[in-house]
Amino acid sequence: MFEKRRPGAVLFDRDGTLIRDVPYNGDPRLVEPMPGAAEALGRLRRADVPVAVVTNQSGVARGLLSPDDMDQVNARVEELLGPFDAWAICVHDDNDGCTCRKPAPGLVIRAAAVLDVSPRDCVVVGDIGRDMEAARAAGARGILVPTPQTRREEIEEAAEVADDLIDVVDRVLSDVAGPVPAVSAPWARAMGWSRW
Ligand SMILES: [Mg+2]
Ligand SMILES: [Zn+2]
Repeated sequence: MFEKRRPGAVLFDRDGTLIRDVPYNGDPRLVEPMPGAAEALGRLRRADVPVAVVTNQSGVARGLLSPDDMDQVNARVEELLGPFDAWAICVHDDNDGCTCRKPAPGLVIRAAAVLDVSPRDCVVVGDIGRDMEAARAAGARGILVPTPQTRREEIEEAAEVADDLIDVVDRVLSDVAGPVPAVSAPWARAMGWSRW
């Protein structure tokens, strides 16, 4: 028998991937899961694959929502979709020059560190090119789940594209490995990540 390949963790973008994208949302009542999200997460949890959220929330830096609002929205996400093993959140703006705002790999590296897995064993699931760039830069496998808002070139440039979150889980729990990602080692060193 072949031993089935299991990723070390699956890291999900939040807005437009796990829940419908409501820009700068600070209202937990507006949280609505994307189709298949609950089922996909359930399958991963039953397979003992850690699940985490890696999300840009620049509305905090821009003063459009408070950290407390954001926490309430995230609590609602867990109420609807169950607990996540880690949350890695960037509250900065593009101008802050942080190392965590996607497309930088910091959130992927941080979540992997919290879960004690290598980023190279992680799958990053997102709806835009920034998510895929962060995955690539961290050495993770990126899977794009496009929405009507995803730009054509982001789909064309993605290493792997899935129809929906169920398709994502079919892929990551199958024996078929994804494309081997190129590792951007300078980023890893900058983030102090040593376990490659
Ligand atoms: Mg998104
Ligand atoms: Zn940041």
